Amino acid sequence: MIRENQLKCNLIRQKNSTKTLFDSFMTSFKPKKTKCPSCGRTGDCNSFAKYNRYVVDFIKGKPVSSTIEIVRVKCSCGCTHAILPDPIIPYDSYSLFFILRVLTEYAMKRYTVSNLCDRFGISPSTLYRWKDLYKKHRLEWQGLLKTLEQTFFASLVELAFLAPYSSHALSFLQKTGMSFLQSHKNPTHLPRSKSPPDFNCP
Ligand SMILES: [Zn+2]
Repeated sequence: MIRENQLKCNLIRQKNSTKTLFDSFMTSFKPKKTKCPSCGRTGDCNSFAKYNRYVVDFIKGKPVSSTIEIVRVKCSCGCTHAILPDPIIPYDSYSLFFILRVLTEYAMKRYTVSNLCDRFGISPSTLYRWKDLYKKHRLEWQGLLKTLEQTFFASLVELAFLAPYSSHALSFLQKTGMSFLQSHKNPTHLPRSKSPPDFNCP
C-alpha cells in the first residue's frame, strides 16, 4: 500500500467527512506522480485495478457507512499498491476521525460506556481495543507528543492540534512500519512507504 499525505493541517480543522476527503483526493490523484515504495521509481505507476470498501464516519450524531473506491496502481517493476490517503486506516472500516471521536468522548466522560457504545454503534470490547491501541501508539509517538505523563484526554487534544498531521503520521509510519491506529500488521512482503508525494490539504 501507499499512504498518501492528505491532512496537511491539524485534525481539529478538518470538518469534511472521510468519504468527501477521500473522493476529493482521488479526483486529483495522478498515478504517474506516485513513487513506487518497492523500487523507488517515480513515474512508472499506472492505475491497475479498483475495489470497493466501506468507511464509517460519525455525521450529525450517528454512524454513517459509505462506500469508497480504492485504486490499486501497478509499477513497471511489477508491484501493485493500494492508494490510501491519511483518513483511511488500513484493514479497518472505521475512519481515523471516527475512532478519535469515540476516544475523545470517552475521555470526556460525558456518557457511560454503555451509552457511548450505543451512540456510536460499537461494542464495549471495540471501544477498549481502540483505547489500548491508542495508548500503545501514543507511546510510539514519544518525542512527538510532549509527555507520557499527560492525561488520556490531554494527549488527544494535543494530537488534534499537531500540525501538519500528515508529517507526524508519516514519521510514525516510518518508525513503526504501521499506520497510526492500524491494528493489523502489513504483510511482510510489503515495504514501508517512505516518500509519498505532496498534495495540498483541501
Ligand atoms: Zn516499482
